[in-house]
Amino acid sequence: MAKKNHTEHCNFCGRRQDEVPMLLTGIDGAICSDCASQANAVAETELKRYKDIYADNEGRPLSGLKEQNIPRPHEIKDFLDKYVIGQDEAKRTLSVAVYNHYKRLENKQRLGNSTESDDVEIEKSNIIMLGPTGTGKTLLVRTIARLLDVPFTIVDATVFTEAGYVGEDVESILSRLLQVCDYNEALAQRGIVFIDEIDKIARKQDNPSLTREVGGEGVQQSLLKLLEGSVVNVPPKGGRKHPDQDFIHLDTREILFICGGAFEGLERRIARRLGSRTVGYTNVRNTARLDEEDLMRYAEPQDLRSFGLIPELVGRLPVITALRPLDEQALRRILLEPKNSIVKQYTKLFEMDGVQLVFEESALDFIVKQAIQYKLGARGLRSITERIMKEAMFDAPKLSKDSSKLYVTADYCREQIAKYAPPLV
Ligand code: ADP
Repeated sequence: MAKKNHTEHCNFCGRRQDEVPMLLTGIDGAICSDCASQANAVAETELKRYKDIYADNEGRPLSGLKEQNIPRPHEIKDFLDKYVIGQDEAKRTLSVAVYNHYKRLENKQRLGNSTESDDVEIEKSNIIMLGPTGTGKTLLVRTIARLLDVPFTIVDATVFTEAGYVGEDVESILSRLLQVCDYNEALAQRGIVFIDEIDKIARKQDNPSLTREVGGEGVQQSLLKLLEGSVVNVPPKGGRKHPDQDFIHLDTREILFICGGAFEGLERRIARRLGSRTVGYTNVRNTARLDEEDLMRYAEPQDLRSFGLIPELVGRLPVITALRPLDEQALRRILLEPKNSIVKQYTKLFEMDGVQLVFEESALDFIVKQAIQYKLGARGLRSITERIMKEAMFDAPKLSKDSSKLYVTADYCREQIAKYAPPLV
């Protein structure tokens, strides 16, 4: 038997030939079978990520995304289309606002590196999204942040209180943003912050602003500081251990803030404003042209003010966009179409156990109708499907090879849902 050459070793992990299962030698080095399979796994993940971001649904490359740093608005929208159903108007508005924001940053960076001066300074355009819960507000922002590969954090406006009260200070938003990029300040400054439930900190109409509220107006005032762009002191990693330990000074001028909220009841205010304007200045017949089902799309800054947002805050959120309530057709598409749709996810899970899962049309109808009754938008789809599939998932691993096809029917859905509460449909 030929003697092993012990001087040969894996150039990745350093182990000798006799310490590894197999050593593959190349022209100028070697790799062991362990490192080769690890490298393969890394390459596969990266290639998939690359394909997700830079290819359309058919795997065709999206034009120019790779060469340029900022995707164009239509490219942002193409990407959103892969994950978010409908909401065309919001997608368009967001795509343009985000594109402009990063174009503005790039311009600033370019000017910073040259002696050229800028005659027109482009202001930051923070965004506010209005629309019922579970219609895709968070999903839209999360998907954009993923495309752009920028740090992203979601915060709930209701957890904030004015300084001095128990609760979180608004500065903690920035701590979270720093955390997600491992305290890289330059990266955090290009990040996106999504402030959810902004409508819940609206000033209450019956609470005169003379009496200070916990939350509400005070929190709006403190958010203003972040939104309008200032240098904010953020405690360092792990909090300040000593009073003399330095704060991180984070400049919020470049951070894009996107606020979201259901703004329940805003339609009534919009209707009142539009109604009176139509009657007052033109004629009553104009109201017929309004989309009565979707009044939110006519929202204007004054409506947000009358809802209880302070004018300064409204002024800092110049881009307003509304999401539509999801109808049956949209919910059905959400079940089936997105790249990681609920049906695709369950099918995959069962496939891993060697079971082919088939949702019958009637089952999809049942899930959609049940979700409409829950009034949780698409948020309900997941929990309903989870309940329906729980028992089957428990049994799937022990199904024999010959019973490897599983049909989900409406009757089965009804039966499973009834175990929790009487089905609503
Ligand atoms: P919101 O922020 O408007 O309350 P989310 O974006 O958090 O709602 O949506 C909750 C979940 O519902 C998402 O994770 C997603 O799975 C699904 N969803 C909501 N709207 C859509 C949509 N338009 N297209 C695809 N999925 C959606």
